[in-house]
Amino acid sequence: MTLYLLQYLIDSVLPPRCPITGEMVDSQGMLSAQSWKDLSFITSPYCYACGFPFEFSIDEGAENLCAGCLAQRPRYDKARSALTYNEQSRNLILGFKSGDQTQFVVAMVPWLFQAGAEYWGEADVIMPVPLHRWRLLRRRYNQSGLMGSALSKRVGVAFVPDGLVRQRPTKVQGHLNASQRHKNVAAAFAIHPKRLGDVAGKKIVLVDDVYTTGSTVEECTRALKEAGAAKVFVLTLARVVKPRRL
Ligand SMILES: [Zn+2]
Repeated sequence: MTLYLLQYLIDSVLPPRCPITGEMVDSQGMLSAQSWKDLSFITSPYCYACGFPFEFSIDEGAENLCAGCLAQRPRYDKARSALTYNEQSRNLILGFKSGDQTQFVVAMVPWLFQAGAEYWGEADVIMPVPLHRWRLLRRRYNQSGLMGSALSKRVGVAFVPDGLVRQRPTKVQGHLNASQRHKNVAAAFAIHPKRLGDVAGKKIVLVDDVYTTGSTVEECTRALKEAGAAKVFVLTLARVVKPRRL
């Protein structure tokens, strides 16, 4: 089903509303003026590797790295995010996750498309960070899977929803610090044996909702690279941007 058809079907049953404030808007996927004002889109300059935004450009056109990536490059090749994680994007993601507001994926696709603009020329496969099946049953859908599927149609890159699997349930990470998060997700992911051919030698775009410390996408990357992935490009809707010394 094309996005346009999906949008048509949604518009025919639900009046279009802003995904954040709930105000009526002209068409599905549009935001109210207030929501636009409060969302913070991440734009250049940012760290070439992890996508951490810089306040000013250090050397125009160069592949600048943040202090963290200079000390140790992440396992993944690049990470990019559409939005800064703030109160507005948090509300958007929480509504998307738990409020059955799946139609808002229509609004998110252009943002993800733009944030991942560097990827589309070379990407072979789009894969979501998986939920464990127990959590999937409770939630009924994987929001990263919905974003990945809609994005795949937009960019014409193959979508493999079940390439990565969780080997064991992990805790919700909200209150864990960086080292606890690392332990929580260590060896949590594996490649589905039937999907090894979609990983070996491929350039993979890994989609998730929020980049916090990067521990989850790093563990996914470990599994993908051990199975022979050529490159792993991370793409998230939002990322936590805590002030840090450059
Ligand atoms: Zn970095």
